[in-house]
Amino acid sequence: MSSHFLNSPVEYIKGVGPSKAELLKKELHIFKYSDLLSFYPFRYVDRTKFYKVKEINADLPFVQLRGKITHTKMIGEKRSQRFTAIFADETGTIELVWFQGAKWMGEKIKPHVTNEYIVFGKPGVFNGHFNISHPEIDLVTEENTTFASVLQAVYNSTDKLRTRGLDTKGISRIQKVLVSLIKNNIPETLSNIIRERFQMISREEALKQIHCPKSPELLKKAEFRLKFEELFFIQLKLLKQKGLREKTFRGFVFSKVGDYFNTFYNHHLPFQLTNAQKRVIKEIRLDMGSGRQMNRLLQGDVGSGKTMAALMNILICLDNGFQACLMAPTEILANQHFETISKLLKPLNINVGLLTGSKKVKERRVIHEQLQNGEMQVLIGTHALLEDVVQFKNIGLVVIDEQHRFGVAQRAKMWNKNTLAPHMLIMSATPIPRTLAMTLYGDLDVSVIDELPPGRKPIQTIHRFDSHRDRVFGFIKEQIAKGRQIYIVYPLIKESETMDYKDLMDGYESITRAFPLPQYNVSIVHGQMKADAKEYEMQRFVKGDTNIMVATTVIEVGVDVPNASLMIIESAERFGLSQLHQLRGRVGRGAEQSYCILMTSHKLSSDGKLRMETMCRTNDGFEIADVDLKLRGPGDMAGTMQSGVLDLNIADLAKDSQILHAARNMAIELLSEDPNLEKPENSNIAYQFALTNNSRSDWSRIS
Ligand code: ADP
Ligand code: MG
Repeated sequence: MSSHFLNSPVEYIKGVGPSKAELLKKELHIFKYSDLLSFYPFRYVDRTKFYKVKEINADLPFVQLRGKITHTKMIGEKRSQRFTAIFADETGTIELVWFQGAKWMGEKIKPHVTNEYIVFGKPGVFNGHFNISHPEIDLVTEENTTFASVLQAVYNSTDKLRTRGLDTKGISRIQKVLVSLIKNNIPETLSNIIRERFQMISREEALKQIHCPKSPELLKKAEFRLKFEELFFIQLKLLKQKGLREKTFRGFVFSKVGDYFNTFYNHHLPFQLTNAQKRVIKEIRLDMGSGRQMNRLLQGDVGSGKTMAALMNILICLDNGFQACLMAPTEILANQHFETISKLLKPLNINVGLLTGSKKVKERRVIHEQLQNGEMQVLIGTHALLEDVVQFKNIGLVVIDEQHRFGVAQRAKMWNKNTLAPHMLIMSATPIPRTLAMTLYGDLDVSVIDELPPGRKPIQTIHRFDSHRDRVFGFIKEQIAKGRQIYIVYPLIKESETMDYKDLMDGYESITRAFPLPQYNVSIVHGQMKADAKEYEMQRFVKGDTNIMVATTVIEVGVDVPNASLMIIESAERFGLSQLHQLRGRVGRGAEQSYCILMTSHKLSSDGKLRMETMCRTNDGFEIADVDLKLRGPGDMAGTMQSGVLDLNIADLAKDSQILHAARNMAIELLSEDPNLEKPENSNIAYQFALTNNSRSDWSRIS
């Protein structure tokens, strides 16, 4: 049934009217009944629970109390008037205060020996005492003691809406009116088969219960139903896109493993591959031989050896007569890849080139030529690879390192560099929780290196306050005396922030004072330096000519100096977890015991504390990513990546991984039985799918 009901404008709802409707549109994008119904509460207050006054502290969200009013007082005049009441139960007293509507409250609330009130509000602290400002307060009567037995929905609102009476209570009121109008007018979106399988309540019942829950059990069922539905349709979309891509986008067939691969594997591998590396190399190889274009994400923690896995597949690409390229997000990293890879491939006589922004025009021209005539087999570089002048004779594989730094549109450019789109291997060292990967990349194939090369000693991580700097300097000296090298990293959130820059330079100065020439050598690298100066300083450190590298996060990505055994992160509280983990991954690459010291001020938020504790507790990137997801939510973590996919309305990727798995498996099962959603029993699903997917979405082609 098409739903007139759901499409009705909200101004028809009693208590809304044209001007409030206008405000709801502007502030919350609520136009129709369906929009209001899917504006879910973000929390529920259990009105069955009563706190005692002595249990109150300022960390509690909302509390409900029951007791008497012993004193009241009106203070000040007119506009600056406020009304206070002392509320008491058998455990103590607390002040209630009203700044707005003081006069009215003064008339309503009177001290009384027997009358009992129910008070509901958020405790705060004022002058060293707890109080509650603007609580809801109701006289206990028979009627509202029954009312007190339900879960009350709490809605987000905005300042503008609040001034028009649409605070959480106001929104709750109109939701109740709307819910009372629901009567066989909400179309079902899932099939009976699915509903029976998971014993789901109907969509209609779920919408009623989510706004006006009759019991905690029914609320749970409503939440499950709506979360499942939300995740199910996202998965359905991703899986359909993936199916489409597999059908539509033919790829080059790399049918053989040839001399390059075999010679390298048998004679020039510098170490034994880990089992995880072997496994992903095979997954990638099979994918590139399948006849369809590969779009694969290679995930692996920092130091897990993704480069070697990619390189082995680059060799397979060459064995099949194609060229390959590797794109990195920074020059430093591109240079480093170039050094390592050209050294490794030297015995095979493979022509490897480097193309970055700082290459001279002349050099570029030579590279462009060699790419077009096929002389250059492997190209390594930065964004410079994307330029239209860069054309290949026959590019077959594009490897992108640290993909989260590249925009989707940038990557798309690589698709057009050959007659068929080349195979894409996207490497990420930012472990994403599986749930997030499934939602973000449900349309990508994923390979995971979940094993570190043997012999690595886990990095020891320590949290120190700034006041212990002297002891930290002492530790630096010990490490240098052992021949080790040290990174000291300063936050530079935006390269232009002058304050950060000053911190860095001040830091550099104090380091050079504490570690003077000629005994010590200190390098510095930051984003405002010219590329060749940066490169020079970097190389001094890589070669071991300097003991300490003072840097901003430019070193975060990829840099590999196995002799560096100590990472000091200044103002660590200003970094996010994934960035801290990335930075820490710069050490622990050699055989020595490595350390990471997180320096912070004494003032730490609770989030900040949790981040430090997490870093000290574990080296596991996936575990860290999970905490990160819980702290920041998926939107922030994903950055600019396909953010549309993450506009989740009710499901929470950090908490609902089980529902996500169930929804995904159900979507897979459904599509395998009814790929075009044509069967009559799936008509609800087909209808809803068409409804929600009429907007164009072609990103799946790219990432
Ligand atoms: P990441 O996955 O962070 O990009 P790299 O590819 O830079 O990691 O590898 C990290 C280090 O581990 C490099 O010095 C590399 O040579 C080394 N390495 C990679 N694979 C192995 C292995 N199987 N055994 C020993 N060392 C390895
Ligand atoms: Mg790497």
